[in-house]
Amino acid sequence: MPSVAQAPPPANAVAAVYAGGGACATRQLGVLAMLELPEVTSLAAQVNEELAGVGISFCERGNSPHKWVWYSGSQEEYQQILVGGTIGTATAEGSLVIIPIPPDHDLAIGDGGCRLLLHEDESTLPARRHFLLGFEDGRCLTVNVAGWGGIWLKPNGGRPTHRPPMRRVSPISDEFTYDCFKELLVEDAARRKCSVKAFMAGDPMVTGIGNGYVQDICFRARLHPRRDITSLTGRERLRWYHAIRKTLREAIKRGGRDTEFGLHGQPGGYVAILDKRAKGQPCPECGDIIEKVSYLGGSCYFCPTCQPLEGGNSS
Ligand SMILES: [Zn+2]
Repeated sequence: MPSVAQAPPPANAVAAVYAGGGACATRQLGVLAMLELPEVTSLAAQVNEELAGVGISFCERGNSPHKWVWYSGSQEEYQQILVGGTIGTATAEGSLVIIPIPPDHDLAIGDGGCRLLLHEDESTLPARRHFLLGFEDGRCLTVNVAGWGGIWLKPNGGRPTHRPPMRRVSPISDEFTYDCFKELLVEDAARRKCSVKAFMAGDPMVTGIGNGYVQDICFRARLHPRRDITSLTGRERLRWYHAIRKTLREAIKRGGRDTEFGLHGQPGGYVAILDKRAKGQPCPECGDIIEKVSYLGGSCYFCPTCQPLEGGNSS
């Protein structure tokens, strides 16, 4: 099977691509939403509840070509491997839902704005879709991509590789201790000039965090997204570490953000402290007005008082 080696799209391509993307509820909010770790964790659990052990009767690699939808083989390869197979036990890895197809392949869906929907029958299938699986019990799963995203079919353990190989750690894993976090900060600062946002969401060494959760993590850590990671005090680093763990833990508990959707189209229960709805509103901590800046391919929302760019807020 051919390897996947696409580069992520440049930030300035996002708006143009999105304007031509597939139907997606995120468009109603005027933002480009992406699946992040809490959402794929929730989706993996729903796949297990609904689809584990279910047989696949047909497959369509998509009927609506779109250059930012990534696959890892031809329509024929997808059909050959998937039809007659069964759905294994799904897991979440970074920003991907991994669905094993025993004995030797995985479907990896995500790394972008993917919307997975389970249909009771074919009567509710969207006319345009980027991926379709039909099951022996008559139900169907569709995937539509807004912006960019992948639906890869890889041998077990094979993962999409559109980033250079380097150390990457899941921020909810046992491996991600405070000592590990500090090591990653040192490694990242040695390879590039690195800001708080870039460490989490710009070619990051931690997996599964994107522009969505960056906002609340920075707010809880009282850090400006543009802060240089080498300028942080020990206290700021510790606050940041706990903000990452707390934000992701809470979002996973609530099934992801309320701007993202589950297999049945239901929104998650995590309401972001800071997203586009907060712009111009008073900061919940100090009452100052929440501001917006464009930075690293996405909008950042922050409180200029609680999250000063120059640092110094170590309280
Ligand atoms: Zn504030």
